[in-house]
Amino acid sequence: MKLEVQPKLIIHGGAGSSLHGKGGVEAVRQALSTVVEEVYSLLIEGKSATEAVVRGCQLLEDNPRFNAGTGSVLQSDGQIRMSASLMDGASGRFSGVINISRVKNPIDLAQFLQTSPDRVLSDYGSAELARELQVPSYNALTDLRLQEWIQERQDNFKSPMAGVVAETELVEASNARRGTIGIVALDAFGKLAAGTSTGGKGFERIGRVSDSAMPAGNYATSKAGVSCTGIGEDIIDECLAAKVVVRVTDGLSLKEAMQRSFVEALENKRDFGAIALDADGAIAWGKTSQVLLAAYHDGEKIGDTLEWTGDELVGYANS
Ligand code: ASP
Repeated sequence: MKLEVQPKLIIHGGAGSSLHGKGGVEAVRQALSTVVEEVYSLLIEGKSATEAVVRGCQLLEDNPRFNAGTGSVLQSDGQIRMSASLMDGASGRFSGVINISRVKNPIDLAQFLQTSPDRVLSDYGSAELARELQVPSYNALTDLRLQEWIQERQDNFKSPMAGVVAETELVEASNARRGTIGIVALDAFGKLAAGTSTGGKGFERIGRVSDSAMPAGNYATSKAGVSCTGIGEDIIDECLAAKVVVRVTDGLSLKEAMQRSFVEALENKRDFGAIALDADGAIAWGKTSQVLLAAYHDGEKIGDTLEWTGDELVGYANS
């Protein structure tokens, strides 16, 4: 098939404080690069950015290591409530579900809502939709996340967030780490899409709404796409994803838009990370947190940010 443009892809599995040991890094690298390979091959076959993003989100939601779908963290009452959103840059349409329970892939509901007149549904409405679509009931709980919650409850839920990735042994409760997932893709026709899915911060109050199903945390147009991870309240306060995209739309390069936004974020003491693509194929990422678990395909090779120190706040592929 003749590609009009070279597809590009970047994905993330969360941001937070450093991973436990080298074993953790290698396992996450392996998990992310497997997803990059599969999703990038879809883009090469001519699948749309939106289709590729949905598939990537499903794969990451299904991996219990990450805090989305299976392996989602528990809220303060011991329940799992997940949020996911999808934005198709070509149509400029955002859709999502907020605090949905008992489904395997929240991104599937976000995808269904792309063509619905009502495009973002909260808990009760999303449960009704799942019932209407006959989505099978699914328990996303893993033993590790349950243990983590029990430990946190003993400490009276002092951690600001749950672990970035579930590891083989329980992490220290004070070691706040996260694992929301996100994908941004540029397809062979030059179209962009972004998707983000999360189990939330972990241990949060019932009814708390994550940035992951808001344009602050996930946004794409025909010019650029961004997916965020980290403390949702910080992402909302910066309106990060939409801010970067608007800056690109107003004429900044992706590099400048990310740089400016992350300098502001640091000044405002925010704690998060983001991945981004633009319609010209530029790939960028940034973080104010200690680590950002991201991997990308630039058309030639796979790279990742797992050992990137981030002293410069923003990194680029092919720079
Ligand atoms: N941003 C997500 C939230 O606050 C959590 C994360 O990215 O890990 O719900």
